[in-house]
Amino acid sequence: MPAICALCRRTSELCDSHAIPKAFIRPILRASGGSAILIPSGPSKIRRGGDVLKGRLLCVACEQWTNKHIDAPAIRFLSDLKRQVDCGGARKGSFASSDLAIFATSVLWKASLISGYSSVRLEKSLRETIRLDILDRSRSPLRVCSVRIGRLIDRTPVGGFDMKSLADFIFPPSGHVTATKQQVVTMAMHGLVFELGFPRQRATSFRTPGYLKDGSATIMLPDFDIFNSPTIVNALVAGYAKELGGHSTLEAS
Ligand SMILES: [Zn+2]
Repeated sequence: MPAICALCRRTSELCDSHAIPKAFIRPILRASGGSAILIPSGPSKIRRGGDVLKGRLLCVACEQWTNKHIDAPAIRFLSDLKRQVDCGGARKGSFASSDLAIFATSVLWKASLISGYSSVRLEKSLRETIRLDILDRSRSPLRVCSVRIGRLIDRTPVGGFDMKSLADFIFPPSGHVTATKQQVVTMAMHGLVFELGFPRQRATSFRTPGYLKDGSATIMLPDFDIFNSPTIVNALVAGYAKELGGHSTLEAS
């Protein structure tokens, strides 16, 4: 049934769009018999699923265009940079920070449009700003938000997550509001963590490695301890409590 494409706003047959790119989900699904473990923040149950944040959002032309021009280059760059850092190589690579910011905000934008997904809420005007940034890539999202990236690690001395588990960890975009009234959205995929802050952080925080600098063509990938993210820790703790309370659709093994 034709409907309105969320990106170009034309009426068309829509296809399934994934907020978290399939390229980041597929290896996990392949390695675990077709399903990933999802630990949602909020009231939903922990579940196994193959369909991670999917919805009919875009027309075929927009889906192909965003895959080719936004997702694929960012995924290639991030995968290469992560591999390089995992092997003990340089922690930086060449990529336009505004293009990486468009990739990160487009994941969030798609997630916010998926019906029933309640872990992030974006104001209508912000959704429209992100839509226009995706269409016109000369507009950098870094003028309205800050984006920080890192390689997920766990410094717990004994019994922590190993790098393989962290690479399989999918944390869908989830928001919280800080004491200074900034909305921070956290998401993790492929062993990488993204933190998006609205409005944009004050300039002082940009000295912290991992913040994308507007106009820069170099991306740094510092380590980011999973237990330094209050959003992820809260979800893990809540997930563990749900598991104990039987609020889970996973079968006991
Ligand atoms: Zn379209």
